[in-house]
Amino acid sequence: MTRTLSSDIGGRMSLTQRILIAMGLGLILGALLQWIALPREHFVNAFVLNGVIDAGGKIFITLLKMLVVPLVFVSLVCGAASLGDTGSVGRLGGKTIGLYLLTTAIAVSMAMLIALTTDPGLGGESANQIQPATAYEPKTAPGVKDTLINVVPGNPIAAMADGKMLQVILFALLFGLALSKAGTSGQKLRSFFTDLNEVMMRLITMIIALTPIGVFCLMTQLGATLGLAEIAKVAMYFATIVIALLAHAVLVYPLLLKSLTGLSPLAFLAKMREPLLVAFSTSSSGATLPVTLRTVEHRLGVPNNVASFAVPLGATINMDGTAIMQGVATVFIAQFYGIDLGLTALLTVVLTATLASIGTAAVPGVGLITLTLVLDQVGLPVEGIALIIGVDRLLDMLRTAVNVTGDATVATVVASSENQLDRDVFNAPDQQAAA
Ligand code: ASP
Repeated sequence: MTRTLSSDIGGRMSLTQRILIAMGLGLILGALLQWIALPREHFVNAFVLNGVIDAGGKIFITLLKMLVVPLVFVSLVCGAASLGDTGSVGRLGGKTIGLYLLTTAIAVSMAMLIALTTDPGLGGESANQIQPATAYEPKTAPGVKDTLINVVPGNPIAAMADGKMLQVILFALLFGLALSKAGTSGQKLRSFFTDLNEVMMRLITMIIALTPIGVFCLMTQLGATLGLAEIAKVAMYFATIVIALLAHAVLVYPLLLKSLTGLSPLAFLAKMREPLLVAFSTSSSGATLPVTLRTVEHRLGVPNNVASFAVPLGATINMDGTAIMQGVATVFIAQFYGIDLGLTALLTVVLTATLASIGTAAVPGVGLITLTLVLDQVGLPVEGIALIIGVDRLLDMLRTAVNVTGDATVATVVASSENQLDRDVFNAPDQQAAA
């Protein structure tokens, strides 16, 4: 179980080292290409950057996504079957969802407090130079009733085909529970699913081995297209989000982990480096899910019955990084347009951003779309989003890494509270670091 990826892959350098080198090389190559500024139709742009490299990045993300539905289904069926044995599904579900909501509410409140201190929208000249360029259509929030009905899959196969994760999670949960109650037939099928789960884990290992190549391609594209001038225009907004994300990742989560489990936050973060790097490169907690799940089970010592439920659910409904961006963006837009947000409006933002984070799909850029819900709720102009859209790409990468950290933290805390965390696995030296 604790075999490292590097020993699986057999390289001399650890996988993390290779990912970091690939990141650096990709960024340098991309920045160079941006600096040389070859014409669009030039061979290098047409066939290398927008051809092979673009395809490489897309194939990597698609390979990760390919794993998500079968992995969540198989893993959660196994997990739910053991939950069925112990009858702890309700307690576990309550704790997990409660912690997800709590961490998101803390994230957005803290983000707004920081933003009200740094005043990112009162940037004087630089901020006033920016003009909203694109009109943004507000998104209408689905009602609570519809949201609840939509969690139930009328057709589980269609839910899997469409990647509707909450529906897949509910079906897998019920299927696994039924399996635990189905006597000998259930036993037979259960061992089949356990074997299938092992095979899926193997498959993840194979695909994770390709991460350096995928990350190289994604970073080259980032380096080639990232506009530093755009960031400079809204530097205070950008910096505020980075500060809030950092505070959440290095203060809130570690405090939570230390106080509720007694575990070392440093060891936790060190073991999380692969999901963090993949989340950063892909900007998708959904695509990162296979890597997160594998790390949470094999390196942090969370048992399958907790991880298989908490991690996919977290990837779907828990977006602390996204909520942080939404909190700062709301304050920024209000200040930019000279609108005063009273206490009621601020509390409304906490509530809507927490709920919007549930409705944010785990793919790149969606946080900006659900931001329209939050702005709408407090009567701010949604066109304000056009002010920040130019810098959202890099922020999306950073907040996705925080989203994924939140999922793993809650999974670890819940497992520990159930006395199910394998502390030997958590505390085992990470051989990869030494490799
Ligand atoms: N990219 C984020 C994620 O996948 C969602 C967002 O904030 O846009 O977690």
